[in-house]
Formats: sequence, C-alpha cells, structure tokens
Amino acid sequence: MVALNLPGTPMEVLVNSLQKMYPQFTFLKGETARWSPRLRQITYVSGKEPFAVWSLLHELSHALLDHDTYDSDMELLKKEVEAWEHAKMLADNVNQPIDESYIQECLDTYRDWLHKRSSCPACGMHGLQPLAELYDCLNCAATWKVSSERFCRPYRLKKAKV
Ligand SMILES: [Zn+2]
Ligand SMILES: [Zn+2]
Repeated sequence: MVALNLPGTPMEVLVNSLQKMYPQFTFLKGETARWSPRLRQITYVSGKEPFAVWSLLHELSHALLDHDTYDSDMELLKKEVEAWEHAKMLADNVNQPIDESYIQECLDTYRDWLHKRSSCPACGMHGLQPLAELYDCLNCAATWKVSSERFCRPYRLKKAKV
C-alpha cells in the first residue's frame, strides 16, 4: 500500500502516499489529530510514536466512512468504534498494527466524556438526548444544553492502569 522508496521520515512517506491515494482530502500537520468534515481536511501530528500513525489512520477512517454529522452522543461513540475498526485494517496494511489497549483508552475517554455530558446538573441522574445539543432529565425535568463537538476531540492518553 505504501511506497517505501520515497525520501523523508516514515511519517512523511506515509502522508505523501496517503495524499496521492486520497486526493479528495487535504492532509495537514497540526497540534492534534482531527477530521474536519467541512474542510475535508485531516490533521495529523508528527512524531515517531506509533500513535501518530494510528491517530492519522483513525482520522482518515472517519473521512473514508463519511462521518460528517451525528445526531446524538451515542451515535458519536458508535462512529468512534467504527473508525477504529476501519483504522485497524489500514494499520495492518502499513504494518503498524494498532494496540487494542490504545483504542480502549481512547474510547474510554469518550465514554467518560459522554457520562459527564449526560448527567443531570440538578439531580445527577442520566438524561435523554432528544436533540444533539439538548438533554432532558426524566427524574427532575431539568434540561441542559451541551456543545456540539466535532469528531475526535483532542484527548490525552491516560496512564496505563496497573
Ligand atoms: Zn435531574
Ligand atoms: Zn475519532
């Protein structure tokens, strides 16, 4: 899949080759890995750590799977899982298999975030989400707004659980 006879670091070689394969997207080096559906742009982080490649392939997977919008936080989580499944395939093709534990760490970060968003600020019960930016509490009838976040918020890798 990747031509290895081009000049540059392994990351540059990979990005160059992905850019040729997927000219419909723009690949851009940045601070955090993310996919912008509006700009059709994949931002990747440079570096030798394997997660630089993994996160790039994850964002590319969002792009290839047409992950443009989501209607609820649960759907966002579902798409995160799908993007990782797809990224695993791409990663195997370039001989950089993704650690399952890394994927679980990333998904846990999302789950924690969803848990916080869905908790009623008044009574702490979990609410329902009738709209992407609104939650309702069935227990105390409170409603609260949540920001509509894009795919792949920047997350930090938590320390491995001992
Ligand atoms: Zn409540
Ligand atoms: Zn993602």
